Amino acid sequence: MDVIVGGGVVGLSLAWRLAREGRPVTLVDPAPASGASHAAAGMLAPVSEVTYTEVPLLRLGVASLRRWPGFAAELAADAGLPGAEALDLRSEGTLDVAFGADDLAALDELAAYLEKLELPVQRLTGRECRRLEPMLAPSVRGGLLAAGDSWVDPRRVTAALLAALDRRGVRLVRARVAELLRDGGQVTGGQVTGGQVTGGQVTGGQVTGGQVTGVRLEPPGDDDGRAELRADRVILAAGAWSAGLAEVPVRPVKGQIMRLRSPQPLLTRCVRGTVHGTPVYLVPRGDGELVVGATQEEMGFDTRVTAGGLYELLRDARELVPGITELEVSDVVAGLRPGTPDNLPLIGPSGTPGLALATGHHRGGVLLAPLTADILLGEEGELAAMCSPGRFRDIS
Ligand code: FAD
Repeated sequence: MDVIVGGGVVGLSLAWRLAREGRPVTLVDPAPASGASHAAAGMLAPVSEVTYTEVPLLRLGVASLRRWPGFAAELAADAGLPGAEALDLRSEGTLDVAFGADDLAALDELAAYLEKLELPVQRLTGRECRRLEPMLAPSVRGGLLAAGDSWVDPRRVTAALLAALDRRGVRLVRARVAELLRDGGQVTGGQVTGGQVTGGQVTGGQVTGGQVTGVRLEPPGDDDGRAELRADRVILAAGAWSAGLAEVPVRPVKGQIMRLRSPQPLLTRCVRGTVHGTPVYLVPRGDGELVVGATQEEMGFDTRVTAGGLYELLRDARELVPGITELEVSDVVAGLRPGTPDNLPLIGPSGTPGLALATGHHRGGVLLAPLTADILLGEEGELAAMCSPGRFRDIS
């Protein structure tokens, strides 16, 4: 029996895929689908999100994006939905726009870089951008179209996953895990320090535990009042909260995001740009919702939505699409991305017997959900190796 701790998009996807394989699984979460997955915009945009130092992440993202159509179709069928469009899975691409000469030069460089990686994008003039998206500001002077980039509505995805789990009879325990049960001890202390693309290390922790054998629940326990669940394998998928249960180098990275409502869709594809040195994006949904995101803040476990955060989002988004100021605000929320020192997720055996990890997905947990499930179902190879928790020492 696998016990999955955490029912965000990662834990729910994993539970569903394991159940589809006929493997016994229990999922534990006091409030499934309420974490970062509730805040996420749902961009499946590895190409337009690329940075020069994140080629491994780009490769993971491209591989997972290819799996999304199949994942969505199977999920929709299992959840009793008419098809993948019920998840608002769309693939019209992302348009990255530029205003000044410096921005345009940066887009040229990015286009050349992506071509070298065999990920061709289309360079557009300002006029061509506005032909695609008439609501763009007249000051947009050029853009880059990543035609393959896609997006999905994460709230519909997690709702479908919960429905699919229910239909498959997967046990969902609505309780918080207090600690992992271990044969012979537990981990105390510990601190994550430093680390860049290949570095990063956990220091100061005292590992006294042996094999992980289950989880202890916070009172009142499960529906029958039981305080412990035994497992052959515990899979830690508690997002930004994972470091509270095991020595994993995961930290919360706050993101504020807002949803606007328009009588008809203002855009036909995702639009992004850099304004005042900060990236901002707009993601259109089929029902007229427009998602504007997102801040990136190192604020610990702070989930307050602030006036300053919302002001910056609106100020910058208005530069791209001036008409947004007329729209109704329907939702504002702050979520915690599970960041790691090298921005890559931790997926696979932890090094401690009985404990596997599916955490640290940072900015891309929705995108990487299908790949994550495949790796925990046994996929091996280069992609799995890139996510291996073994790249950090002392995880237990
Ligand atoms: P979460 O969704 O945070 O779920 C963790 C779950 O663990 C929660 O339900 C919580 O209740 C549970 N939990 C915590 N502690 C315990 C415990 N002790 N016991 C039991 N359960 C516990 N990603 C993309 O791919 N595309 C995007 O466009 C995108 N946009 C984003 C925008 C914002 C503003 C933010 C904040 C994130 C965005 N992300 C995006 C990132 C994405 O949201 C995360 O990578 C992803 O949601 C992580 O999923 P998760 O399941 O690991 O974590």
